[in-house]
Parts: sequence; C-alpha cells; structure tokens
Amino acid sequence: MRVLIGGGSGFVGRELTRLLRDKGHEVTVISRQPGPGKITWGELESRGLPPCDGAVNLAGENLMNPLRWWNESYKKDLFSSRIDTTKALSQAIAASQSPPHSWVLVSGVACYKPSLTAEYTEDSEWTPFDFLSQLVKEWEEAALLPENVANNTKQVVIRSGVVLGRDGGAMKQMLLPFWLGLGGTLGSGTQPFPWIHVSDLAGIIAGSLEPPADPPSTSPQVYNGVAPALNTNYEFTKELGRILRRPTIFPVPGFVMSALMGSERATVLTEGQKVVPNRTLESGFQYKYPDLTSALKQIVEN
Ligand code: NDP
Repeated sequence: MRVLIGGGSGFVGRELTRLLRDKGHEVTVISRQPGPGKITWGELESRGLPPCDGAVNLAGENLMNPLRWWNESYKKDLFSSRIDTTKALSQAIAASQSPPHSWVLVSGVACYKPSLTAEYTEDSEWTPFDFLSQLVKEWEEAALLPENVANNTKQVVIRSGVVLGRDGGAMKQMLLPFWLGLGGTLGSGTQPFPWIHVSDLAGIIAGSLEPPADPPSTSPQVYNGVAPALNTNYEFTKELGRILRRPTIFPVPGFVMSALMGSERATVLTEGQKVVPNRTLESGFQYKYPDLTSALKQIVEN
C-alpha cells in the first residue's frame, strides 16, 4: 500500500512510518521542508495528490510548545496549521482521478467537555464550549469529503488522548523533571488523564488505513484513540514516579499552570475527560499497552 502522511516527520508520524514500512508499505511524507521521501504542501497544491492508497493528516503546530507564549498569533497558528493542511489534503483527495481507499485524520479528545464523572464514547454528543473544542470541530469539518468521493473513500477520525512515548510529546518534557525528583500532580490531580502509547496510536491509524471491507459510509467513522484504562493525573504521576524510583512530592497548582501556559492551554493538563475507546475495542484492536504500568515501563526502560 502507498501511504501519504501529512506531518509524518513528527512524533506520531515517525512511529507510524516505522510501523508501515515494517509491514512492507511505501510512505511519502508531506512537509513544509523538501527532502527525500517527502513532498511539500506547495507541491501537493500545485501538482495534486500523488498516487496513494491511503492518506493521513498528522500536521499541526505543537500545542505544548514551551517556546511559544499563549497569544493570538500562537492560537492562529494552532488553527491554521491543522485546518489548512487538512483542507489541502481533503481537497486534493476530492480532486484526484484515483482517490485513496482510506483517509484518516487524527484530532483530539478536547472536543469532550472536561468532567470528573461523565464518560465519553465515540457516540457521545458534543458541541464546542471552549477554544480547543472549537478547534477540533473546525479541524474535523475540514476533513469531510464530498458525498460522491466519500462513496469510495473511507473517512476515519481518530480522537487522540495525550500521546505517550519516549521520542516526543508530553513525556519528552516530563521525563527530566521527574528524573530530578521534581515531578508532582498537576492541578488537583483528581482530573482524568486520557492517554495512549504512541505505538498503539500508530497501530490504530495503520488499521484504519486498511481497505474497507464494505462500501464506506459517507460520514466519517470516529475512534477514540485512548488506552482502555481510565486514569487520573494523580495515578499517572505516582506510577511514573514509582517506575523511575523518584519522589513525586511537588504538586503544581492549577493557577501556576494557567499563569505559565495560558489558562486555555493549561486545561489540557489541569482538567480532563474520561474517554472510553468503545468502537476501537469493538473493532478488535489489540492494545500493546492497555495500562499505565506497561506503557510507562516501555518508555522508561527503553
Ligand atoms: P508534532 O508536534 O510532532 O508535529 C507533527 C508535524 O506537524 C511536524 O513534524 C511538522 O512537520 C508539522 N507542523 C508543525 N508545525 C506546523 C505548522 N505551523 N504548519 C504546518 N505544519 C506544521 O505532532 P504529533 O506527532 O505529536 O501529533 C500528530 C497530530 O496528532 C497533531 O495534529 C496533534 O495535534 C495530534 N494530537 C497529538 C497529541 C499528542 O499528545 N502528541 C494528542 C492529541 C492529538 P514538518 O516540519 O515536516 O512540516
């Protein structure tokens, strides 16, 4: 299978590329930078979709970029880097003479309203209530294919939780303070912490890229990209400390997080949703890291 991955040079994209190449598939990355095995977004726009059987979009300005202050320019980049790239790909698919059989977008669980009690499955209703949920709404809308194309191209949306892995994402920023014994709960610690190991997320994406068994439905199939274990921030913190054999006695209050990161961004860490991957489990997907202990051990011990 030939797979085109927007933003494939990033944390999740590198893992997905490794997995697909190991299975014998060909990967082309769409990037802002030219290079071997890559095309640029400009080339996609000017030359149209290269021949491919599956397409994925993983592009997006990093939400947790510690070097960027939370301001209007950063917020604009968070939107445009996701929505413009997703639109560029969905429009190229729609305009293609031979569109791929599968089109996958990875979005986020921020569409579900943070709650200590509610549990969200893929079928849960939601409407935007803040900056990040509005972002998810416009991002997922940008991926929609016109009906005549959607008859032949399976559309999949994977709503990912915090992606855990050694080479990027949240863990890359957390491991050093935890190693130094400076780790602690964020906010109250009672908030849910929806997470997934990067290898499992790559596995769910790879499974979604397989050709559809039946004619695809014209609306996207949604999968929650989270581990089946429901954990709180406190449980995550204590388990990471236990595996690293470091104390975790320095809680960071919510107001400090908001002051440092901007309150709209800090909510990702200080509030959370209980997200249940019902449809992902029903699809028969076998998690390699279904619980925190196995996921964190793999990350810390490698
Ligand atoms: P990365 O931060 O690694 O970024 C992925 C790629 O996006 C980069 O390699 C880069 O590719 C491209 N990119 C970065 N900034 C911009 C920009 N301003 N304009 C256009 N392209 C840009 O992302 P991850 O791999 O961690 O995540 C993949 C997707 O999953 C993202 O859309 C993310 O929002 C989503 N997600 C991730 C979560 C996580 O915890 N990591 C959680 C939930 C959702 P290049 O430099 O080659 O152009």
